Amino acid sequence: MANCSKCGAALAKKRDRRKTDMCNRCATGAALRAKAKRPFIEHRGIRYYREKQGWQAHHGHGARRRLHVVLWEEAHGPIPPGHFVACIDGQVHNNALDNLELRRKGSHLPRERRPSEWTPEKVRRIASLAGLGISHSNIAKLIGSTQQRVSGKLKRMANEPTP
Ligand SMILES: [Zn+2]
Repeated sequence: MANCSKCGAALAKKRDRRKTDMCNRCATGAALRAKAKRPFIEHRGIRYYREKQGWQAHHGHGARRRLHVVLWEEAHGPIPPGHFVACIDGQVHNNALDNLELRRKGSHLPRERRPSEWTPEKVRRIASLAGLGISHSNIAKLIGSTQQRVSGKLKRMANEPTP
């Protein structure tokens, strides 16, 4: 008499031909656990699974919640109308709070399709260099960018609402 390799319950004879050596109940549980092995991040007891585009999202109770939005709202409150939360460095799985910023809708697509050169460190660096009165072309030389890109980024930063 064969027994389930997991719980030890006796297996019915007709199950002997199955590929698993577990009883029905244990085999179902194992299949579910395998499915749940998709990479996820757990936040406050909720699992956020990696989606195709890289966002971590939780689908449940009829709503799709994306982790970066949840994190931002926990820190700053609800997103104001007409805005969205963007990842500064373009890496949508980088949910670090200092990589998230509020942007106006409509400024979304062009900058999110390709990874931005503006990592949070780079952004902080050009902001502090500009604060010291260093010229944009010299900042560009210091960080290995171009004057045009530095000026553009600083201009955008000045226009963005500070959360
Ligand atoms: Zn079993």
